[in-house]
Parts: sequence; C-alpha cells; structure tokens
Amino acid sequence: MRSVSVFGATGSIGQGTVDLLLRQGGPAAYRTVALTGGRNVVLLAQAARALRAELAVIAEEALLPDLRAALAGTATEAAAGARALAEAADRPADWVMSGIIGAAGLVPGLRALAHGGTLALANKESLVSAGPLMLATAARHGTRILPVDSEHSAIFQSLAGEDIGAVEAVTITASGGAFRDWPIDRLARASVAEASTHPNWAMGQRITIDSASMFNKAMEVIETQAFFGIEPERIRVLIHPESMLHALVSFRDGGMIGHLGAPDMRHAIGYALNWPVRRTLPVARLDLAAVGALHFAAPDPVRYPALGLARAVMATGGLAGAAFTAAKEAALDAFIAGRIGFVAMAPVVEEVLSRLSAAGGLGNPAETLDTVLDMDAEARRLAGRVIDAMTQS
Ligand code: NAD
Ligand code: MG
Repeated sequence: MRSVSVFGATGSIGQGTVDLLLRQGGPAAYRTVALTGGRNVVLLAQAARALRAELAVIAEEALLPDLRAALAGTATEAAAGARALAEAADRPADWVMSGIIGAAGLVPGLRALAHGGTLALANKESLVSAGPLMLATAARHGTRILPVDSEHSAIFQSLAGEDIGAVEAVTITASGGAFRDWPIDRLARASVAEASTHPNWAMGQRITIDSASMFNKAMEVIETQAFFGIEPERIRVLIHPESMLHALVSFRDGGMIGHLGAPDMRHAIGYALNWPVRRTLPVARLDLAAVGALHFAAPDPVRYPALGLARAVMATGGLAGAAFTAAKEAALDAFIAGRIGFVAMAPVVEEVLSRLSAAGGLGNPAETLDTVLDMDAEARRLAGRVIDAMTQS
C-alpha cells in the first residue's frame, strides 16, 4: 500500500489532494502518515478521520487541545507547533504533498526530501528561495520532485520524451489577475477584497492577490529557471485570460507543444499523484468549440512591475530569491493589513533588494538552510523598515 503525507492539508491545494486521495480509495488504498494544517482544526480533523491518518499536526500551538478533542475516539496522534511540523516531515512516506503556502513550506519540504520517494511540489516559494538546495537534497537522497504548479506541470508534461537540449523557449501563461482590465491609475485604490477575487481559479487568498500583482507569475518564472534549468532569457510570460493553455514549450525545429486543461488544480495534483500513469480525474473537460476563441497578449511591464523584479532576481542569483520571497511576503502582509496600497508592494520589494544588493552578499549561493533562513529574516526586517517609513510619510 502506498504511504502518503499532505502538508498544508487544510488549504486549497491540500483539500484538492485530500479529495483525490478519498476518490482514489482513501484509507483502503493509501496509508496516510501525516496531515498538517495551519489553524483550521475542523478541516484538519475531518481529513484525518476520513483518511485515518496516523498523525495530524496543527501549526498553531494553542490549538492542540482543540485538535485533540476533534480527534477523540480515533487512533490519530495529535501534535502542534513548527517543530512537530518539521518532525512530521521526517516520517517517511512514498508520496508527500508540499502544500503549505509561503516560506513556511521550505523546512518541511526540505526535510521530506531526505527520505526518498516523491515530493509533489506546490510550494513554489521553496524553489524560488532555495532551488539549488532543494534539487541537491533531492539528488542526494534519490527523491523525485514532481511539479504541481499548473504551469510547471504543463511544462513537465510537454517535455515528456523530449530532449531538453532541443528547447528554444518556454512560455508560461498568466490570466492577468483581478485587475487585468482596470485603468492603471485605479490600481492605487484597489482594495484587499477586490484583489482577492480571481477571474478563473479558486485559490487561497494570498496566491490570488499575488496573481493580481503578478508576483505569483514572477515567482513562477524563477521557479521555471530553478526546476528545469532553463536560462532566464528563454523563459517568457504570455497573458491568456481564459487560463486554459497553461504553458508552451518551443523547440528548435519551430514546433511548439503546449498543455491545455480546465483551470482546476486537481489535474496537476492528480497528475503528480498518479505519475507516470494517467488516471481518470474529476476535472471538467474543455469544450473548445463552446469556448470558441483563446486570447493572448504580451504583459505590460508598467502594470506588472513584479515581472521585471523577477528578471533582476535571476540576474543576481544566489540568495536573491530568498530575499525576494521574504520581502514579497512582508509587503503582502502589509497590504492585507491595510497598511500599504496595492501598488506599493512592488516598490517595497525593489527597495529591499536594492539595499541588500548595496550591502553585498545577495548573490552568494543559497547552499545551506541557515544562509537561506538568515537572508529571509534580514529581508523581512528591512521590508518592515521600508514599510514603516512609507506609512509614516
Ligand atoms: P492556502 O492558503 O489555501 O493554504 C495554505 C496551507 O498552508 C493551509 O493548510 C495553511 O493552514 C497552511 N499554512 C499557512 N501558513 C502556515 C504556517 N506558517 N505554518 C504551517 N502551515 C501553514 O494556499 P494554497 O492556495 O493552497 O497554496 C499552497 C501552495 O501551493 C502555495 O505555495 C501556492 O503558491 C501553491 N499553489 C497554489 C495553487 C492554487 O490553486 N491554490 C496553484 C499553484 C500553486
Ligand atoms: Mg501557477
């Protein structure tokens, strides 16, 4: 029987994963080693009961008594806190979903890479901040990483059986987010609620706002470089409002292979869960005759400054990705808290990168977890100062 763990089981990716595990036989087909959640005890306990998980971990320590109560009468062990979360990742499982959002997903994902099997990677932040470390750890332990981000799953599927040396370019698509059709001067007044609605995908709030600002796409460009080893100048972004074509690979003979599918993450999750086999998945089938037309446009660099920042991060390399992720998270927190406006997020990140670059060391290799975590902490501290200065002026 295959053993599985799901980190971030209460989130959008995690719930999609739990749903597929249950549809594919649940506890009769999988031994669930560990499920983790941030704060949602009800969803975590529900998933643990349905999958008869051996361990359930809630990140928020104060919620341990609630979790214990919610699991009463089951054989599931309950634990809480960041340490318990990392320890859950030390328990070997054949297949692990890395579905925690943000830099918090780095340590559990990295520790899971140390026991072989497959890491299904939704947490793009870990590749952006510590790509070389993740890949080296996976190689050392013979662990396979399968991408779950829809664009990267699409690239992976388009590359199946192809020679990476014959690739001329890779294009990832972007819906353009909530404000694609807004006049640029209105963006400064965009509210958190407005930024939290996505035209096509149902996702967690943070990634939805990152889609509106294209910080999500910026991370995905860096993720493409880190995971597939493709040079930055060969990675392109294309606006595609329908979110049906997820990525395109262009080959040197002029041919392009792309991947189409309904915007439902359970496709990419299910692909990674069942790889190399394709199983029937409960996602909508595209009816292209009914869709009629698909649209494409080049992204406007003024509307989406995050894309330019991604280019700068790749040019610097090393720890710049860790600084970028951390500064972006601090800026996003400040926007959600109502402290800064939507259009102030990119300038915060840019200012943090420029101060760190002036201080030196930003391009040092992201070789150890400590160097990455130190850079993360430093970038958050600086971002805090930049945001304070902005809110006082
Ligand atoms: P989400 O906010 O819906 O869920 C995040 C999960 O992480 C939840 O279980 C939450 O409790 C947990 N979590 C949050 N902070 C934590 C912390 N500090 N410690 C421990 N656990 C914590 O997020 P999501 O939309 O499911 O995204 C998860 C990851 O997948 C992200 O990295 C995102 O970029 C990536 N991703 C998501 C989608 C999508 O459609 N939702 C698509 C592609 C990639
Ligand atoms: Mg994506």
